[in-house]
Amino acid sequence: MSATKRSLYSFTLEELQDHLKENGFAKFAADQVYNWIFKRYTFDMSEWSNVSKKIKDHLTETFDLSLPKIVWNGLSTDGTRKYLLGMGDSNTVEAVAIPAKNKRLTLCISSQVGCAIGCTFCHTGTMGLTRHLTTGEIVGQYLAVTKWLRDKVDAEARLTNIVYMGQGEPLHNFENVKQATRLFLEEQGIALGQRKITLSTSGLVPQIEKLQDFPPVNIAISLHAAHNNIRTELMPINKAYDLQRLFDAIKTIPLKAHRFITYEYIVIADLNDRQEDIDGLCELLDTKVSKVNLIPFNEYPESKFKSPSGAKVEWFQESLINRGYICTTRITKGADILAACGQLKSEHDKLNLWDD
Ligand code: SAH
Ligand code: SF4
Repeated sequence: MSATKRSLYSFTLEELQDHLKENGFAKFAADQVYNWIFKRYTFDMSEWSNVSKKIKDHLTETFDLSLPKIVWNGLSTDGTRKYLLGMGDSNTVEAVAIPAKNKRLTLCISSQVGCAIGCTFCHTGTMGLTRHLTTGEIVGQYLAVTKWLRDKVDAEARLTNIVYMGQGEPLHNFENVKQATRLFLEEQGIALGQRKITLSTSGLVPQIEKLQDFPPVNIAISLHAAHNNIRTELMPINKAYDLQRLFDAIKTIPLKAHRFITYEYIVIADLNDRQEDIDGLCELLDTKVSKVNLIPFNEYPESKFKSPSGAKVEWFQESLINRGYICTTRITKGADILAACGQLKSEHDKLNLWDD
């Protein structure tokens, strides 16, 4: 994508209406443009039959119309598909489409190239941060994958859910992620419901305190430990914002009735999978507003931690359920193509192996 021009895929409908009006065009043309892009996923302007040539020329001259390019994709045996997306400046990020029951198809998207937080269990964390993604690049992942699915798999394909759990710390890129989220919710556009979008954060306290200012989507907190010493070992951010500060900030998140905060907890063998970790979680979390999502640690080449046994995870989950929590275990998907949580790293030495 061009660094100089703003992406056309970064405007809310109202902003596009205002823009066209200011430039002497009819406001309603924005509705038509919006419909072609965000409802029909048709990016070839020659097909925009109800949009005038003048407007098309104006948009072409003024904005960046390119989409992230799918440079590689690979299908896991469980149906999960990983996409490597080129951003036009030699940087790539990954997005993962995860199918589930009832036609649910969740897209796990990236918010940054790499990540600055440096969690010691995370493959992305080992990359460091290269740069933030723009709003157009974040929304572009959704658009490019939808178009790919419609062209290659099913003309009616629809990604029904979004999780900000790909590469990057979404709250570190607050403004662009916020604008992208507005676009995902836009009624005359992609029109996902607030509950279909989940933002996962490692616990950037100042940005958590700004969530009043963010569309009310589901929030997941990457907790991973109930004791400061273990959390600091796993997540250097805990040195700056420890559990006390994190939970003080979480209290400021506006929660609509019957909504929960999800706490993600990676279960790592012999590290945070003990009875005292369960006791610690019970002290920290209020059963009425918390859900716990256990993620068995996914190993990747050179990872220094180990996956827990299935029995251990089951015991951990049962124990929390017995103490009154809603607690689920995330089924690992896509591990055979390194598409599972924490395995995303834009590096493809094995490119040819997985090409299909
Ligand atoms: N940066 C954000 C969102 C992206 S990470 C965050 O950390 O919340 C998405 C989820 O994958 C997080 O809960 C993260 O902790 C988890 N994850 C990272 N590495 C993992 C690994 N090796 N095994 C299992 N889960 C992992
Ligand atoms: Fe960044 Fe999340 Fe990975 Fe931590 S777990 S390094 S915050 S992507």
